[in-house]
Formats: sequence, C-alpha cells, structure tokens
Amino acid sequence: MESIRSVPGVGSKLAGRFEALGIRTLEDMLSFMPRSYDDRTRERMIGETTEENPTAICRIHVRKASSFYNRKGEKTLKVTVVDDDGTPLDLLCFNRGFLEGSLTPGSSWYMICQVSVRSDPTFFGRRCYRSSAAFELKRTKAEAGIGSILPIYPLTEGLTEKVMRRAAEYAIRNTEISDSLPFSIYGRHGLLHDKEAYALLHFPRTAEDAAKARRSLAFSEIFRLLFPILRGKPERKDRHVPMTEKEKALISSLPFSLTDDQLRAAEEIRCDIDSRIPMNRLLQGDVGSGKTLVAWISALHAISRGGQVAFMAPTELLAKQHADGASALLSGLGVRIAFLSGSVKGQPRRLLLRSLKDGDIDLVIGTHALFSEDVAFRSLTLAIIDEQHRFGIRQREALAGKGQNPSILYMTATPIPRSLALTMLADYDISTLRTMPSGRIPIKTHTIFQESTRKAMYETVGVEFQRGHQAYFVYPRIDDEGDGGLLDVTTMYSRLKEIYPGVPSALIHSKLPEEEKMGILSDFRDRKLMYLVATSVVEVGIDVPDATCMVIEHAERFGLAALHQLRGRVGRSTLPSYCFLVAIGSLTDDARERLRIMKETNDGFLIADKDLEIRGPGDIGEGERQSGFVSLRFSSIASDLKLVEEARAECERILAEDRGLLKAENAPLRNISLHP
Ligand code: ADP
Ligand code: MG
Repeated sequence: MESIRSVPGVGSKLAGRFEALGIRTLEDMLSFMPRSYDDRTRERMIGETTEENPTAICRIHVRKASSFYNRKGEKTLKVTVVDDDGTPLDLLCFNRGFLEGSLTPGSSWYMICQVSVRSDPTFFGRRCYRSSAAFELKRTKAEAGIGSILPIYPLTEGLTEKVMRRAAEYAIRNTEISDSLPFSIYGRHGLLHDKEAYALLHFPRTAEDAAKARRSLAFSEIFRLLFPILRGKPERKDRHVPMTEKEKALISSLPFSLTDDQLRAAEEIRCDIDSRIPMNRLLQGDVGSGKTLVAWISALHAISRGGQVAFMAPTELLAKQHADGASALLSGLGVRIAFLSGSVKGQPRRLLLRSLKDGDIDLVIGTHALFSEDVAFRSLTLAIIDEQHRFGIRQREALAGKGQNPSILYMTATPIPRSLALTMLADYDISTLRTMPSGRIPIKTHTIFQESTRKAMYETVGVEFQRGHQAYFVYPRIDDEGDGGLLDVTTMYSRLKEIYPGVPSALIHSKLPEEEKMGILSDFRDRKLMYLVATSVVEVGIDVPDATCMVIEHAERFGLAALHQLRGRVGRSTLPSYCFLVAIGSLTDDARERLRIMKETNDGFLIADKDLEIRGPGDIGEGERQSGFVSLRFSSIASDLKLVEEARAECERILAEDRGLLKAENAPLRNISLHP
C-alpha cells in the first residue's frame, strides 16, 4: 500500500498530521469520509444570502481598500467590494496586510464568503452587508470551486481542507480500486462500483451522488463484515421435535397455560438440543415475559436426553431464587438439583463437585462459580445464562475450556434492537417472547417532578399496603455522603418507617452479606416484609408477584434499560401496579426524554430502540471491539437498519445458493474475495 507521503507536497511533517487522523496510506485517505459537503454548485449573490444560506458565491469587484490598526494593534485591511448586482460588502481582514498588494481597486475576483446582515445607522433604512469571517477570493471560477461540491473533512491541527482535498484527489487518481463485492450484487442493489463510489464520495457532482456513494460503500462494508460470520454459522433445518413426557408433565402441573411465544421458543430450543450442532441461542423477552419457565422446559429436554444442565445467574440472590423455583417445579419430576456459588465451601462443596462429575446431579444452578476451574461435569449438554446483558463476553470460551461443547442459551430482558441483532449478534439464533402472559395489566407509570406531589405518592403506596400488596423504594446511594445531594437508602429507611408506622420493611443493598440479602428477599417473598428500601440491587430478575409499587427516586440518574428493568419488578401478576419516577430539580434534555419514554410505553422493545437512538451502540463488549464493528467507516449500525437488512439478506441469499450448489455437485463453497 502506498504511503500518504507519495502525495506531492506531503512530507514527514504533514504525514504526521495525517497519521493523527488515522491516515497512513492512500487507501486510508480514500476511506476517510467527508464530514459534510460545501455545495458551490449554485452561485449566490450577496443580496441573496439569508440566515439559512449565509454564504455568498459570486464574482466581485474591489472598490476601495484601506488599512488601519485595530485596538489590539493588529493591522486590519478593510476592503469594500460590489458584486455584479452592485450590492456592496465590507470585508475585514485581520493581520492579512499582505493582501493589500493584490486587492487593488478595480480588480475582479471570485468570492466565497459568509455574509452577515447588520443595520447600520450611517445607512439609515438600508441593509449593510459585512463580513469579518474567513472568506476566499480566487482569480478563476475553477480555483474557487464554483460549480462543484467540495468535501469537508474532520481536521486536525496543522491540516487544512485544501491539503486534504488535494490528498483525496491524488488518492483517487493513483490507487488501484477494484470491486469489493461479487459483480452481480451491484446491479441487484443499485450500488455504484467501488471506483466510482470512492470518487463520488469525495467529489460528488450532486447531493444525490454523495448519498449514493455512501450507501454503496456502507453496503459493501456491512456485507463484508457479515458474510464470513454467517458463512461460519451452522445451517439449521426446520424440524419438528416432540416434547418428552417430563416436559409435558411440567406444563400440565402449572396453574396457567403457556403463551404461544413460550411454546414456540421451547420448540426452537429443543430442536437445537437434539441436533448435533451445539446451540448458540439468545432468548429475549421483556421483563416478566416468562423466560425462566422456557429455561426449565428446555432443561428437562436436555436431561431427558441424558445430559446435565448448568444454569448461571448474575448474582447469588438471583441464583438462589431460581434454585428455589426449580426445586418447587422440577424435584417432583425426578430431577436432581444442586446449588453452587462461591459461598458453598468445604465438605459440602467437595461432595457436590463429586456428584456433578459422577453425573449424580442433573441440574446445577448457581453463579459464575459454576464455571470455575475445579468444576467438572460428566456430560454437560446445556448451559443457560440468565440476564446476559453484555454480549461481548462470550461464555463459550470458558466452557470449551472444560472440554465440553454444550449448547448455550443466553437469556436477556433487554430486548436487542433489530439492527444489533442482525449485525453484532449475527452468529446467534434468536428466540423472542413478544407477548406477555395473559391477564397482566399494564403498569401505570407516573412521573413526579415536584416535592408537593410526593405526598400523594406515599398515600397511593399506603393504600396498596392496606390491600396486602408490596412495594420497592429505590435510591441511588447506600449512605448519606454528606453533600446533601442525593437521597440514600439508610436515611430513607428511617424516614419511611415514620411514614408507614408498623409496616414491616427492610433495607437491602450490595454491601450486605449475601446470606442476609437472601434472608431479606425470602422474607419479602413470604410477605413477612411489605416493602424493601433498596439500591439498584433489585434491578434484575427478582420475581415477587404481590409487589405492585415501584418507587424510583432520582430517576433522572438511571438509564432507560435500568429504569425498565426496575419497573419490571412489579406488574408480575394479575394485580394492577404502579411505578413512580421521582425527578425533582432541573433535568437534562436526555433525562427528560428518558422519563417521557418510560411514561409513554411499557414495551421493552420500543424502549431498547429508543435507548440505541439516544446512546448509540457504544456499549459493546470486547468481542465486538475485536470483530470490526467499531471500525465501520461508512455505515452506522444504529441508523442504517434498512441497509443492514438488505446486506444481510444478500449474504443469506448467496450462502443458500452455495449450499444448494454444494449439495448438487459437491462443489466447494464459493470463495468470495473479501479484502479489507
Ligand atoms: P422474566 O422473563 O422477566 O425472567 P419470569 O420468568 O421471572 O420473567 O416470569 C415472571 C412471572 O410470570 C413468574 O412469576 C412466572 O411464574 C409467571 N409466568 C410465566 N409464564 C406465565 C404464563 N404463561 N402465564 C402466567 N404467568 C406466567
Ligand atoms: Mg428472569
């Protein structure tokens, strides 16, 4: 690849500045996308400038030129010019006295200049045009770029647009640009061939050119990123796998019937379990959509096939809750269940590890301790990972290290925006629970912006206590940190005791020992406690059906995903429930928008899309960082959904075609050249 230094006039000093922008070679320059364009296709006279279109692009004639020293002692040149319409304009140039020699009265120039209109008392009633901003004066139309659209690049110190444009032009003329995609794709998707696309990206003739060039390069970029991922992904066939007797027994023991989405997800998963290729599947469903049950049904399937199942939760609290739930539902079906976390130690741990290794345990539920080094399985065939939010951290590697290659089911209550699902998670299969169990009443969300409405909120919650329903109060801090800024659980715990005298409650936060937390939670579930005063430890997974009120103080400090998760702790039964988002004081626009969205919708899928819009897909893990998703130059995963869908469909079309060929003639998969 040719160095940027081959551009005439770019020596080591300039090359260093290019490098600061990540540009080392001519190819880098080609893929350096203009930030915007300066459209000089249409001339604009001085009198035609407006606030939206303040740039005059026209021929001018110098009338007067004089210089003086301003207050700072800088030599200032004042030049009065007129355009062909005769409209006068004052140009002020500081420290550019050297222009004095060439801007002689009577000379004509082509000018590009930001114009401001000011009323001038000396020209009462007349408009007076002034410019003290930068302007360009050129001898010829071509030099002034009139008639063309000029790229505007993000710059760094010591580089000018002029140098960048020269480098871009040189790179286009002196780089071998061949097509990056198979020929037929261009026609099918209305793409420009690469050579033309690069040329028009930098020097478009029209605004449409620029858009088309970007679209073409973005398509190619996404296609080349996805194609190898999708080619490596095992092909799955639609099959029908019946449930085993145990699964049927579990389902008929439930006091409710499964939703269609739960049934479909369970079927997708058991097809995967029965196939020879290990599953890599994401089960996404809004909070309270009933993912856990799908997990137990799937576990039963794997166990019926003679395998062992590991279920991992993000915290000990949740793991314990799941272990209790699983015992209640599955022990009767002969499933041997164990609980394992870091706090299981000594003799009990040794015995447990032995049983796991001997295959005397079918289902082990726990924290990440499940995958620690000393844990061995006889035949682990399914690993279920609950509340997986960070997809960068791929557990498969940790498991493969155990010499096993189990199917993995990731469960997440943070719905994945479609554009991310199609790209960053392209190597997962996805099952979705869209519908909620029947009988659920949408949670009513109230926003509280004033101290005076707080009382009404406390009253509403008090009425719920009288009905025997429970509540969560969430605060961002554990202790008063003395700055008087934020409410904390410790202070509020005693204040709430005064507000609700005699109502049993507990304080829960991350600094409590695990055992104490678990005790509190189980008392809450058993209704020995009516409300919890908590930090965001209650954010994920906790399932207490009689809890109907969620109060979140300083709601402006939480992100959308966290708010939605917290709110999801209520509304888990057929009781009506409430969420109060308290945000008193001044709010940022983003915070206000988040609260508005929360009030407006309970739909986690919609909230996830909004979250992506507000935050961008920045929160991605190591895996993605390495896989090239962050180096996308022309496309944006967050805003190019249509293009992503199109590129992905094209990948799949080609792969399907190749698989057809493969079957027909045993031909090797087409080797699409995917040079970066
Ligand atoms: P999440 O998807 O947030 O993990 P859970 O699996 O904890 O949700 O389920 C929430 C609650 O809904 C649980 O109490 C569960 O027993 C109940 N549930 C699950 N499926 C159904 C259903 N089909 N009908 C009614 N209730 C259900
Ligand atoms: Mg859950």
